[in-house]
Amino acid sequence: MIDKLPPSADGPVGQLPPQDWMQAAETRVVIAALTAEGAEVRFVGGCVRDALLHRPIRDIDIATHDPPERVMTLLERAGLRAIPTGIAHGTVTAVVHKAHFEITTLRCDVETFGRHARVEFTSDWAADAARRDFTINAMFCGPDGMIFDPFDGLADLGAGRVRFVGDPMQRIEEDVLRLLRFFRFYAHYGRPPPDTAALAACRAQAHKLPTLSGERVCGEIMKLMQAPDPASVLLLMQGERVLAEVLPEARAFGRLRILAFLEERGVVRPHIAPDPLRRLAAVLDVDRDAAAAVAARLKLSNAQTHRLVAMAAPERMPDPTMDAPAARRALHRIGAERFRDLVLLAWAERKAATGRTPPGETERWNVLLDHADAWAPVNLPVHGRDVMALGLPRGPKIGTVLDEIHRWWEDGDYRAGRKEALERLRELVARD
Ligand code: ATP
Ligand code: MG
Repeated sequence: MIDKLPPSADGPVGQLPPQDWMQAAETRVVIAALTAEGAEVRFVGGCVRDALLHRPIRDIDIATHDPPERVMTLLERAGLRAIPTGIAHGTVTAVVHKAHFEITTLRCDVETFGRHARVEFTSDWAADAARRDFTINAMFCGPDGMIFDPFDGLADLGAGRVRFVGDPMQRIEEDVLRLLRFFRFYAHYGRPPPDTAALAACRAQAHKLPTLSGERVCGEIMKLMQAPDPASVLLLMQGERVLAEVLPEARAFGRLRILAFLEERGVVRPHIAPDPLRRLAAVLDVDRDAAAAVAARLKLSNAQTHRLVAMAAPERMPDPTMDAPAARRALHRIGAERFRDLVLLAWAERKAATGRTPPGETERWNVLLDHADAWAPVNLPVHGRDVMALGLPRGPKIGTVLDEIHRWWEDGDYRAGRKEALERLRELVARD
């Protein structure tokens, strides 16, 4: 990962090579503003961890000695937008163009009540690292790339060990969300076997999970779902009696495993990205009501709820023997996005159930996805007013005629244009 430096008490352990995200103009102006009067700042958490693994950086967290009010002043003085996100907890967000930087004053916990820890600001980097959750999340990196690693996170990262900073029982007692974070980070960074002390602490405190808000549980589940193989971690959670407390409806582990495999391996064309909501739908074993209940519990938006219910408890599933007109009928009914979801889920379901794919079937599923890509929404080229213009009075008969012409248009694979459709309409009206 990096060239190691000789050990010293609290000095750097190595140096990251130049990083695009650190050299970016946005990052440089924020660092320049924060250090204008000599303060020492360091990158911390996810960006350091992911840079060490050469993974893409999502958001940038920065730690500083300065108290939040001073951070606000320094940013504003440099002409940058500063938002007092959580000023009491020491967090200020700097916004430069589209980039967001979370700047947090070094803290140490003095008392903790669940997530509402009473914190004090400190100038001690090690104390700040000690209140972070996992060793791999407690590393700092100076603007020059120097890595500081007070809890041996580097070795854990290399070995795929997700380890709590301090005693797992106590750290989960302080904040039970860390229990879910453990499985989320294990899914993304861990290699078996998982840390035994952590698992024992998770199992012992799983009963506290229902005290968490739906939003926070949802955030962790969605992030877990984005891991390469979420199914095996959900199975681990089930074994530790954790899953029953947050997602008892998750039972279709095989379907989720295959869906993730299809998405990750690009067996499906590359533009089909891993989708956490689709993955959630894949693992649920539910009817419509139960799917809606999961969505309500996780506080999903209306759009997400509709999509989850439509995926987890569909009225009809695509099947690989569907011909082109049948695929287009389904596309017309539910739209390309929903159809694509259902093709992937049906494909995963079938592969999970049969264990192997009959010859030619992969090709047929891909053809269905091609239809979805090629689909452009179409509208029936005639309307109620056309029927009335032919002399039919307002009333239920209009609806019957429209249904009939719709069926005719569908049977013709949506090819008929307005002219042909009007002709057909005349025939229908004349016939009655
Ligand atoms: P990502 O942003 O990729 O999900 P991250 O490590 O940046 O991962 P965040 O949730 O953004 O995770 O938190 C930033 C850092 O804050 C973490 O790396 C960790 O050091 C600390 N942290 C966040 N939540 C907690 C918590 N509940 N308990 C202790 N430390 C936490
Ligand atoms: Mg982060």
